[in-house]
Amino acid sequence: MIDIHCHILPGVDDGPADLNESINMAKKAAEEGITHLFATPHHLNEKYLNIKQDIIGYVLKLNEHLQQNNIPLYVHPGQELRIHREIFTSIEKEEILTLDESGKYLLLELPSGKVPAYTKEVIYELLLKGITPIIVHPERNKELLENNKLLFELVQEGALTQLTSGSIIGNFGKNIQSFSKKIIEHNLTHFIATDAHNLDSRGFTLQQAYETITKTYGIECTFYFKENAEQLIKGQSLSILEPLAFKKKIFGIF
Ligand code: FE
Repeated sequence: MIDIHCHILPGVDDGPADLNESINMAKKAAEEGITHLFATPHHLNEKYLNIKQDIIGYVLKLNEHLQQNNIPLYVHPGQELRIHREIFTSIEKEEILTLDESGKYLLLELPSGKVPAYTKEVIYELLLKGITPIIVHPERNKELLENNKLLFELVQEGALTQLTSGSIIGNFGKNIQSFSKKIIEHNLTHFIATDAHNLDSRGFTLQQAYETITKTYGIECTFYFKENAEQLIKGQSLSILEPLAFKKKIFGIF
């Protein structure tokens, strides 16, 4: 399996504090059946600045340690970029890291409470540059939950999204779990990833989430998400399902 969103670099952001914890996370990911994992530290959020060159260096070192410890996991450099007015300055300074080498896919984080007014404009500008933003964990954003049109509009505009595996299996509560299911049912998400930060509260639950998806929606649905991750690693286009709008207020559904 491929995990496109994870905080595994030692002492870099709110992921593992040291190398030992990092290596234990890597062991757990490999046991879970993950073979390729993207280390995606936060960038431009209120607390952390992690630019491209630094991340590449950290990932190189971590892969060396994993090889020395015979852990069958390959770590790819990535970044979780907080939506920010400075994104484009940061792109010009070559501080931004896309997930694939061809520069096509970028993880984009919204603040958890809201969707900034300039979000659509940022998505538009990124798409113009040939970069497709992948909005991470939309199911945990309060405004997307309250405004039943907004997520559809962002996906319609050309953004992709990624659900967190823990949300699907109920680790973030019933409301977020129900919203995650609605998002899947309306073709408003394209990837499932762990967003793991540690081994306890925010661990690797990808296999479990895929099992839930298979049980609820059938194996084709799981294949869809897995195949999208494979296409992303290769920097190729995805064949995505047509997004559907929510008919009722999302809150009314619960
Ligand atoms: Fe994250």
